Amino acid sequence: MSMASALPGPTRDHLDWPFFEERHREFAAEVDTFAKSSAVAAIDHRDVDGACGKLVKALGDAGLLAAATGSSHDEPLIDSRLVCLARETLAWHDGLADFAFAMQGLGTGAIGLSGSPELRAAVLPKVRSGDWLAAFALSEKDAGSDVAAMSCAARLDGDHYVLDGEKTWISNGGIADVYTVFARTGEAPGTRGISAFVVFADDPGFSIAERIEVIAPHPLATIRFENCRISASRRLGAPGEGFKIAMRTLDIFRASVAAAGLGFARRALDESLAHVRARPMLGGRLADLQLTQAALGDMATGIDAAALLTYRAAWRRDVQRLPTTREAAMAKMTATETAQSVIDRAVQLFGGRGVRSGEITEKLYREIRALRIYEGATEVQKLIVARELLKAN
Ligand SMILES: Cc1cc2nc3c(=O)[nH]c(=O)nc-3n(C[C@H](O)[C@H](O)[C@H](O)COP(=O)(O)OP(=O)(O)OC[C@H]3O[C@@H](n4cnc5c(N)ncnc54)[C@H](O)[C@@H]3O)c2cc1C
Repeated sequence: MSMASALPGPTRDHLDWPFFEERHREFAAEVDTFAKSSAVAAIDHRDVDGACGKLVKALGDAGLLAAATGSSHDEPLIDSRLVCLARETLAWHDGLADFAFAMQGLGTGAIGLSGSPELRAAVLPKVRSGDWLAAFALSEKDAGSDVAAMSCAARLDGDHYVLDGEKTWISNGGIADVYTVFARTGEAPGTRGISAFVVFADDPGFSIAERIEVIAPHPLATIRFENCRISASRRLGAPGEGFKIAMRTLDIFRASVAAAGLGFARRALDESLAHVRARPMLGGRLADLQLTQAALGDMATGIDAAALLTYRAAWRRDVQRLPTTREAAMAKMTATETAQSVIDRAVQLFGGRGVRSGEITEKLYREIRALRIYEGATEVQKLIVARELLKAN
């Protein structure tokens, strides 16, 4: 029996693809066992903040967060295939568990890439153990896709920076202990005048301006800096390097958004297969009808195409050690758009049950929507792919 068939659902043979080594298959099985454990089942998801904290701690206790943060703070290398497999598997089971895992990585990716040894040692072990929650603060009210429009500012004052302004749509905002924050330092206009910083939730001048509720409940907030004074040693990389650091971080984690989309889509397909086999229709079963079979054929083919792009991007980064800006953008837009359409087909196959509150299809329908928007909307991914093509000779 292959390791792949030990995982949930009938659509898991992609784990036998040549992108993976045995350790990847073993890790995916470990994450699956974790997601099915009674410790996770006991977490009450109605209290979203509390559930998120408990999920992060449980992931840390199970030793799974090393995949998101890197296993050593001296050399925090991230294996993209491990991150993608974790997200795909967690998303299959539970959108909030996927979110909890992903934010520990996205929130500290820039610290691993560009933090001083002292900052890495202070932050990464606590985030890896699940004792601290992490967040990534790039977006602003008027600077989402257009990062260059950022106005949150950091002014150098002796050996300190003083931060003023707001960031919005910040995942884990309100419950995070540590934030990677991007602010304008003004070395040059646009994206060349932005730097990256580490801010702690208890830094004076830092506050939560507003909590935000969205269709699939996750901790989210607008955060505020008012005369927030932090040591200059909390800057990541050189002054003016912040945009580059943000993009390098997103290059790693964008393919993992695709993987989360795959997890949601595979769950929708697995649930659809079970439903159409069981649902009586016209003297037979829903599965007997050719229109149903056409839907299943489209869903499965779309998922495999998206998975090939996703794991190609991760493999290229891990094994070929090549830039993956184009590949990650292709994977992110294809997997999230495909997942949306697969989940929509699943809702349709379920009929009225598909939209009933509490049904898995209804949850997946709400979970998938934001993935087409955050970490660069689909339209922005298309522009990234085109820009990479046009600059190649
Ligand atoms: C649930 C959720 C969680 C998030 N978490 C975080 C987080 O943790 N940290 C963080 O920093 N941000 C986070 N974000 C913010 C997210 O990254 C932004 O919402 C996203 O970048 C889009 O920015 P915007 O919302 O300002 O939309 P806009 O930038 O106003 O985009 C609106 C529309 O314009 C389109 N558009 C943009 N540029 C072009 C173009 N050149 N040509 C054609 N169309 C274009 C977009 O594709 C989109 O359809 C999160 C958002 C959500 C919804």
